[in-house]
Amino acid sequence: MTSNNDILFTRAQLTTPGGVNSPVRAFRSVGGTPRFITRAEGPYFWDADERRYIDYIGSWGPAIVGHAHPAVVKAVQDAAARGLSFGAPTEGEVLIAEEICKLVPSIEQVRLVSSGTEATMSALRLARGATGRDKIVKFEGCYHGHADSLLVKAGSGLLTFGNPTSSGVPADFVKHTLVLDYNNVAQLEEAFNNMGDEIACVIVEPVAGNMNLIRATPEFLQAMRRLCTKHGAVLIFDEVMSGFRVALGGAQALYQVTPDITALGKVIGGGLPVAAFGGRADLMQHMAPLGGVYQAGTLSGNPVAVAAGMTTLKLIQEADFYQHLSAQTLKLTQGLTNVAAQAGVAFCADAIGGMFGLYFSEKVPTTFAEMMATDKEQFNVFFHAMLDAGVYLAPSAFEAGFVSAQHNDEVIAATLAAAHGAFAKLA
Ligand SMILES: *Cc1c(COP(=O)(O)O)cnc(C)c1O
Repeated sequence: MTSNNDILFTRAQLTTPGGVNSPVRAFRSVGGTPRFITRAEGPYFWDADERRYIDYIGSWGPAIVGHAHPAVVKAVQDAAARGLSFGAPTEGEVLIAEEICKLVPSIEQVRLVSSGTEATMSALRLARGATGRDKIVKFEGCYHGHADSLLVKAGSGLLTFGNPTSSGVPADFVKHTLVLDYNNVAQLEEAFNNMGDEIACVIVEPVAGNMNLIRATPEFLQAMRRLCTKHGAVLIFDEVMSGFRVALGGAQALYQVTPDITALGKVIGGGLPVAAFGGRADLMQHMAPLGGVYQAGTLSGNPVAVAAGMTTLKLIQEADFYQHLSAQTLKLTQGLTNVAAQAGVAFCADAIGGMFGLYFSEKVPTTFAEMMATDKEQFNVFFHAMLDAGVYLAPSAFEAGFVSAQHNDEVIAATLAAAHGAFAKLA
């Protein structure tokens, strides 16, 4: 019997490049046919063949309260009935801005945008506008969306400027981007010693979630804070993924390190397109219409999207939300580690809040190089065995996974039962 997923994928490739609207969805890394999703509820979604999966990507983070949460759906329906978009301010935008400032104290003022890419791109422009400097520092393996100056990998030598990772990005656009190693304090110090007075900002994922999951060391984030302050550079935490995922106040609450600017996205839209950047009021005052840094958006602060985001932000503040989320995520990662050990497979896992990493290696990676050295072939076999058993993991060895508040004990147990068979294939 031909799968409806195959039929749709064949058709999709005729009118959409690669058949998808975001590359990772194409399953290129793991092989096989992407599943076309028809509906989702709680911890599950269903594909075009009516097969049910336990979902561990949660739309890559946003679905933290579970899919199609009744309160979120109701808020969206109510907002939609009042009109979809006005191009003029609304009370909802005031309320969500107040909520974000309350939950993330380093954010005194915030601007809403529609994607994480827009948020980081605008944060960089703000940092450059406020400091009058051009150079930016980023770290290999961190993803900050697809703005030109951020699609960069390390150059040939340390402290040389980067090379574009995408064709279509002029080398001239990335010549101001310095790419350093994640968790390498000495290198960061050297960069600031060499050119500290030229650096507009450092941008970092304070818990990296785009090279699988890698924790920053506290020393790394503290050094960054100290060096930015000393040299007058802006510290940008890209918490598009970690914000409201690793803890209610984001990674900055966990590490107790205060950035100047924070980028948010994913969870704050609750599944609809909302992202934001915000921080110290004196910096945010550089934004138009107050200051000279231009940024705008037709659908920024869209009332329907804001309704989904606001309702999600309320739900995650319920008592014990994060204790429960973290506990469920730990049951998953510890369970998988046990099953792998029984099967004799070299495997380990890490979890922070509702975010987790699975690694086919002896120990949890702490650097980009260690992550790249994990066993991708083993992951791919494991991924397909789990998929066949009804568990949908991120379709790449180098992506993090996400648990929602609806992943109850029964769902975790079903996942571990599937993992017994999957690890047995690798033994
Ligand atoms: C997802 C992500 C982005 C980009 O957000 P989009 O909404 O996909 O543009 C930026 N930074 C981080 C850390 C992300 O995880």
